[in-house]
Amino acid sequence: APLVALRGVSKRFGNGTLAVRDVDLDLAAGEFVSLLGPSGCGKSTLLRMIAGLGAPSAGTIAWPGRDEGAAGRGFDLGFVFQDPTLMPWANALANVMLPLTLKKVPRGEAEARAAEMLALVGLAGFERAYPRELSGGMKMRVSIARALVMKPRILLMDEPFAALDEITRHRLNNDLLELWAHERFTAVFVTHSVFESVYLSQRIVVMAARPGRVMADLPVDAPYPRN
Ligand code: ADP
Ligand code: ADP
Repeated sequence: APLVALRGVSKRFGNGTLAVRDVDLDLAAGEFVSLLGPSGCGKSTLLRMIAGLGAPSAGTIAWPGRDEGAAGRGFDLGFVFQDPTLMPWANALANVMLPLTLKKVPRGEAEARAAEMLALVGLAGFERAYPRELSGGMKMRVSIARALVMKPRILLMDEPFAALDEITRHRLNNDLLELWAHERFTAVFVTHSVFESVYLSQRIVVMAARPGRVMADLPVDAPYPRN
């Protein structure tokens, strides 16, 4: 069974805007999918509905595969926004610990898991650094570590690297692929960059033209290690 199954999903906002129209989409466990399309085509709205942030106005979003092959994995989902949204008064470690603290994981264990996650995103040694001391790319790494620290089945990313310079962005793309291969979450990556979608994903879902519609669903055969 697919991990997530969307059927006839539409979203009309209170002001009348029909942001998503009649989307059918299955996401398989472990795949790396991009949602590609120009600004305003409904990518964020669709991603947010998958995350449970805003209900569809029509259609259903089901999780038929949620209990399959989930050993050692909670059902939490991770969400990464374009803005890293870190707590400025807390250091990198404390920022990554937040989801564990909210789930009442004991402090020692939470610190160890957060430190391990920071190391995985390339920030070993920066545990005590505050957000203001970190570059944009490093803040994004902290944000990704925080999203992954609960070992979610699925990581939803909404144009996470769009505000970063090209070199930083390229490094983060490479490191994200390594992290995905290592941690084996399902990745859904919203972008308006054709390059980024081809480079990162196994599959590209194109939203365009008539806003809110899925126009194409394409497999990608990229020369990159795949699961
Ligand atoms: P994308 O992520 O592809 O840029 P969005 O999903 O953000 O597109 O937006 C799709 C459309 O829905 C746009 O026309 C946008 O202005 C509109 N929209 C998004 N959020 C809201 C909202 N909360 N209320 C009304 N319209 C919205
Ligand atoms: P993005 O560039 O990622 O698509 P936007 O700038 O379109 O983001 O949207 C930023 C925030 O404003 C989102 O929470 C979105 O839901 C909301 N939003 C976007 N368009 C509208 C709109 N027309 N009316 C109300 N809220 C909107």
